[in-house]
Amino acid sequence: MTVRVRIAPSPTGNLHIGTARTAVFNWLFARHHHGKFILRIEDTDEERSRPEFTDNILEGLRWLGLTWDEGPFFQSQRLDIYKSAVQKLIDQGLAYRCYTTSAELDALRELQTAKKEAPRYDNRHRHLTPEQEAAFQAEGRSFVIRFKIDDNREIVWHDLVRGTVTWKGSDLGGDMVIARATDDGIGQPLYNFAVVVDDMDMEITHVIRGEDHIANTAKQILLYEAFGAKVPEFSHTPLILNKEGRKLSKRDGVTSISDFQEMGFTAEGLVNYMTLLGWSPPDSTQEIFTLAEAAKEFSFDRVNKAGAKFDWDKLDWINSQYIHTMPVDKLTEMLIPYWEKAGYQFDAGRDRAWLEKITALIATSLKRLQDAVEMTKVFFSEVVEYNDEAKAQLQQEASITALKAVLATLEGGQELTETTAQDIIKQVMKEQNLKKGVVMKSLRAALTGEGHGPDLIQSWLLLHQLGLDKSRFTSALAK
Ligand code: GLU
Repeated sequence: MTVRVRIAPSPTGNLHIGTARTAVFNWLFARHHHGKFILRIEDTDEERSRPEFTDNILEGLRWLGLTWDEGPFFQSQRLDIYKSAVQKLIDQGLAYRCYTTSAELDALRELQTAKKEAPRYDNRHRHLTPEQEAAFQAEGRSFVIRFKIDDNREIVWHDLVRGTVTWKGSDLGGDMVIARATDDGIGQPLYNFAVVVDDMDMEITHVIRGEDHIANTAKQILLYEAFGAKVPEFSHTPLILNKEGRKLSKRDGVTSISDFQEMGFTAEGLVNYMTLLGWSPPDSTQEIFTLAEAAKEFSFDRVNKAGAKFDWDKLDWINSQYIHTMPVDKLTEMLIPYWEKAGYQFDAGRDRAWLEKITALIATSLKRLQDAVEMTKVFFSEVVEYNDEAKAQLQQEASITALKAVLATLEGGQELTETTAQDIIKQVMKEQNLKKGVVMKSLRAALTGEGHGPDLIQSWLLLHQLGLDKSRFTSALAK
């Protein structure tokens, strides 16, 4: 048997971290078994689906390296297939037209709630006579198609993550709606129905999705049986939770993959982290691996039932591991869009050499690519903003003495290299009787406007090459 799995996002929003993590598990499982990973866009909700969300989803999956083997298939292009599948169930007496109005359904729900019963459809139109149907039609009522659910059924499956799962037919809310009507007959299929038709058609062997779909699985198994089809294996993966243990949501900051990208996470780092959201490799001390490496080891035996807590510190740590081991030219390439977006002026081609130097200077301090914008701002602007620490430093008499002496040396035509910069500092210390710390702090405050930052000598050399150091000493002294 060839393993065939799928990811089936609805384009009603950008690619969500939860969907992306489900895609990761599907991808790993498919690659582990040398199977196929299929992409299906579930866009039957005409009002909420948008092409820009589809684009965002495809781009996000590609960016993460979750390449698919078949698709994307679009449900909106398969409506005729669903219609004839609905008709098949009607013809077999397994589905029927229900004319109950929404006012009637509301009244039913109110009654059930008053009696402290779970709301459910009472199957009242299961056995309408042709005369009754004609009368409802004459009244101008529209209809939905309902699939019969046997209350006495017990639905059992062996879930690859959760073990044996049992559902009672009576807990499924009564006969379920599988399609709505249009003026001329059967119209839009509903989620549970379209999914089963597609998963049968696309010969999906394993349905791997979030645990919020468990109740759907019980309904879907009944539909597979109605079609006489083989029921796939199911695997319900744990939800991603925030620090408080609730489902991760927009309120927790970012939830979509493009947001993470914008914040400066690398695709490799993010996908590595997502792999660990609910799964652990056989060597549980191993935290850094590529998708291909994880695929070799992946199995559902090592996927947790409990929800996976989202841990920003760990994500940052993993991301920094990828940044720190990246060659400088590649890292520069990755930082350029962030600098551009920040509005920094440079020519990515002509200025490449110093961009790489700036990159090298900050590389080991970066956790997220976006951090580079703040860390390197002193190299992209003529003027410096001084923070409080730098301001206090520059007010000290010793700082003024040190900066005057440094400036005098530079104005004397001293060429600046790593060695001469060190010599200048030593000379100023000796001649002005200043401690090294004072000279260094004064230089940093004047050159960068801050009290801390990347290597000072290297920063100075770069600023010198950019022709920015002397003016900074002068304006610091003018304060
Ligand atoms: N369109 C559904 C979703 O985005 C797919 C669920 C499934 O995998 O069946 O949640």
